[in-house]
Amino acid sequence: MTPSLDWLLDQANRKLTNGMDPDVAAITRTVITELAAEGLPIGIAQGFRTKQEQDDLYASGRTRPGKIVTYAKGGKSNHNFGVAVDLFVYADGGKRAEFPAPPDPRLKRIVAAMKRYQMQWGGDWGSFPDYPHFQLYDAVNGQTKPLLGPRYPGQPLYAGAERMDRTLIRLIQKRLRLPLTGRFDQKLTQRIKQFQRQHRLAVDGIIGPVTWRHLFGARR
Ligand SMILES: [Zn+2]
Repeated sequence: MTPSLDWLLDQANRKLTNGMDPDVAAITRTVITELAAEGLPIGIAQGFRTKQEQDDLYASGRTRPGKIVTYAKGGKSNHNFGVAVDLFVYADGGKRAEFPAPPDPRLKRIVAAMKRYQMQWGGDWGSFPDYPHFQLYDAVNGQTKPLLGPRYPGQPLYAGAERMDRTLIRLIQKRLRLPLTGRFDQKLTQRIKQFQRQHRLAVDGIIGPVTWRHLFGARR
């Protein structure tokens, strides 16, 4: 039995606690929703971590028995800034966590989905690759938060609406992997409805603020 989306989001919300960047939380929920619709149940092993929790983790394999699980002391992990999540795949109907490593195709799908929302992947780190790890930006080393996606145009987009920005329509078509016609055509309406169904939104083929947020991630 594959875990239900409700169950997956419920589990995820337990890890997306205070201290998490709301955009990172929204992106992670969106990706969990997208991959659940494709039959890939994702969970969060780590979200926000306090400095103390980080120090405790750092002690493992050093001043305390156990394996070395991190190279970062307290305050030196992006988890301490709430901008990182570690993801895993549920196995046995949700009873077990698996951490896929390359060349596992499940990992490829997770990475592709997270990168669509501008998340950086720990697997790209040459010296110490961290496959489950994703972060929006490197807060530890002073990076600033990137802008997330295009801004909502302020009025709903739908077939037949007046004064629609063709660049925006192309952006939406690109996001949904449709031909970039720049027109809100029948194909786009159908695809939006399908997207809304997958994300459990009102299925009306209209891109309002909620559908927009699901398409492009949160932005304040
Ligand atoms: Zn991590």
